Amino acid sequence: MPELPEVETIVRELNQSVTGKSIEGFQVINESSVLISADTKLSELEGQRIMSVSRRGKFICINLKGMKVVVHLRMTGRLTWEVERDRRRYVRAVIIFSDRTKLYFSDVRKFGKIWITGKNDYDKFTGISKLGVEPFDNGFSAENLADLLKGRKGGLKAFLLKQDIIAGIGNIYADEICFDCGLHPDLRIEKLSGKKVADLHKSIVKCLSLGIQNCGASVSDFVGINGNLGKQQNYLFVYGRKDDGCYLCKTPISKCVSAGRGTHYCSKCQKLSISMT
Ligand SMILES: [Zn+2]
Repeated sequence: MPELPEVETIVRELNQSVTGKSIEGFQVINESSVLISADTKLSELEGQRIMSVSRRGKFICINLKGMKVVVHLRMTGRLTWEVERDRRRYVRAVIIFSDRTKLYFSDVRKFGKIWITGKNDYDKFTGISKLGVEPFDNGFSAENLADLLKGRKGGLKAFLLKQDIIAGIGNIYADEICFDCGLHPDLRIEKLSGKKVADLHKSIVKCLSLGIQNCGASVSDFVGINGNLGKQQNYLFVYGRKDDGCYLCKTPISKCVSAGRGTHYCSKCQKLSISMT
């Protein structure tokens, strides 16, 4: 599933290529992929100019005057200018622009969604209102993370995956963040000391930034809007590296299930228990 860095990559690409374009039509091919809010009609999109494209968590927001087109790619969704031949039957919706270009939403497994919505209730309609803090917001500091951890119990990876606490982290980056700060994915968060919380905060920002710098990780379905692959898959320390040697200590990378997800970690570099100092 595309995570914050992959979605940010798409948002930046879209911002460069669709901002200023006018929408001529919106074609719905699979009805369950497109949700239209009660205060809007699909036809209201016609003639609308795209003001900007922004990201909230893993949501892509195409901002129009008084309306928004919000996209969540979920497992296998893609937004691209072209569609490969073997993927054409998975096109679920098409945005047609007045300059005759078309942006295709294709989705093999149909978990992805597009919401056509007015500007006021869009966050409730899409679920964006339930999202937690953005890792790149100024407000997200080590102190802020300590506040978010306060009173909570459970495993570290499960905490990192909760979109209503911190928005945007998924399976790949959660594993990379745990490795980067030397903590086992199942480490109990109530055991984290102030110093470790500060390390964890640094690792969250660092791992997500690296992913953005490398234009996302193309480990399964992710491609940019021109079909371009990301590069971050070449720089992962643990994710997808089961039995390969840890880059730091050469111990074979282990795989377990944590927070219900396949999880990669180094049994030597990542501690399950830490001293309280
Ligand atoms: Zn190691």
